Amino acid sequence: MAGLPLPGPQLITNEAGGPIALRIPSPVQAILEVLRDDGRAAYVVGGSLRDILIGRTPADWDLATDARPEVLQTLFPGALYQNTFGTVAVHRDGVQYEITTFRRDHAYADFRRPHRVEFGTTIEEDLARRDFTVNALAWGAVPGAADTLIDPFGGRADLERRRLRAVGDASDRFGEDALRMFRAVRLAAQLEFTIAPPTLAAITRQAELVRHLSGERVASELQKLLGAERPSIGLRLLEATGLLRQISAELADQRGLVQSKITGEDLWDHTVRTVDAAPRDSPVVRLAALVHDIGKPATSSDGHFIGHDVVGGELSAGLLGRLHVSRPVIERVGLLVRNHMFSYEPAWSDTAVRRMIARLGAPAISELLALRAADNLGSGLPADANGLDELRDRIAEQLQAKAVLDRSGLVVDGDDLIRELGLAEGPILGSILDRLVEVVLNDPAQNDRPALLLRAQAMLAEDR
Ligand code: ATP
Ligand code: MG
Repeated sequence: MAGLPLPGPQLITNEAGGPIALRIPSPVQAILEVLRDDGRAAYVVGGSLRDILIGRTPADWDLATDARPEVLQTLFPGALYQNTFGTVAVHRDGVQYEITTFRRDHAYADFRRPHRVEFGTTIEEDLARRDFTVNALAWGAVPGAADTLIDPFGGRADLERRRLRAVGDASDRFGEDALRMFRAVRLAAQLEFTIAPPTLAAITRQAELVRHLSGERVASELQKLLGAERPSIGLRLLEATGLLRQISAELADQRGLVQSKITGEDLWDHTVRTVDAAPRDSPVVRLAALVHDIGKPATSSDGHFIGHDVVGGELSAGLLGRLHVSRPVIERVGLLVRNHMFSYEPAWSDTAVRRMIARLGAPAISELLALRAADNLGSGLPADANGLDELRDRIAEQLQAKAVLDRSGLVVDGDDLIRELGLAEGPILGSILDRLVEVVLNDPAQNDRPALLLRAQAMLAEDR
């Protein structure tokens, strides 16, 4: 886009009449110019406009135009058709700009987004099909006119009140696409906005429509929600509206389940606190925090929750499987949930510390420590309560000493045993290698070639 003029920030006025700066980055401005120069209407729309108006960095840039996708491809050579909804993606310096041809709404068949597209001709039509008033703003113009803010639904006022309100009749809009209910809750968490009472009431009334949605779409919203600074805002809304019960009855059953942690708080309060306390930059730990006690309602008996870690591992796999979360993530979260109940004592031997690392693997062990710290905070304790700081140091010490944790750390391998002991490949060989790992976990000094070969010979003799 070199050679195009790069205008400075543009000004619009706020409600009180004072100017506020609307900073449209120059690549976006340049894309708008290309469209205008071709005689097309062009606007910044949706979430990106909402975000810059409140001083947030947009996750992505959405532009809307009356140019059809085939025209966009000639105006922006190399642009990619993004999907079947008439969206074309343009890349500039590693950033993606999505240009979407105006659309208009038509009848939705099945509570999901439409499967076919009808192109529209005006920005007003395009804004009318959007979900919330703060997402139904546009900044731009038809060719020859000056850029203005197009705000047919009072989105600007809602932005100032930090409020999400459905465009038009909330019940109808959620009936058209049930995902909008999840989007409302996710956006409330990300933006720290409230949901207008009629919109909230419509979600509560229609929560069960969520069952028509694909697991992937729900999971994507849930993951964005969990990535918010304070996911608790969204989690509490999910529970209060009944959306939570639609995705996990086990989590919804945590509400009202009393446990002896923070006075007056129930298990759901504990879960929500734990998620907030989990590191924001670790989606896996945040997800594990959400489900770490999912096994408690099912195992609750006389104030105890025996086996809730194991049951929780299974229930979390069930939930994440329904949401089509990827296999490795499901397995990692399950591992963390099954192992979250360890109780460290300073009397633990180094062998016990090494066994714990070996059971989890090095990457998961630091996630488990982060999960436990969050669990402590969620229980009203200091993050490092119950010797967690000491355990963390002792684990770091073992990792630094490159402690042998699995077969790959042994100084002998299968080939050595085949050659030196005349063993054949097969289960006996595998079992001997596993037992040698045990020997070295107990005593790292035994990781020595002659010593291990002798041990292996003795094991072989015993097996026979
Ligand atoms: P994010 O910060 O995650 O990008 P966003 O609101 O921008 O949030 P996008 O998925 O990028 O979400 O969608 C861009 C815009 O498209 C929205 O702001 C909204 O105007 C519109 N939109 C997205 N999904 C829907 C939907 N399900 N129903 C109606 N309008 C939608
Ligand atoms: Mg967006």
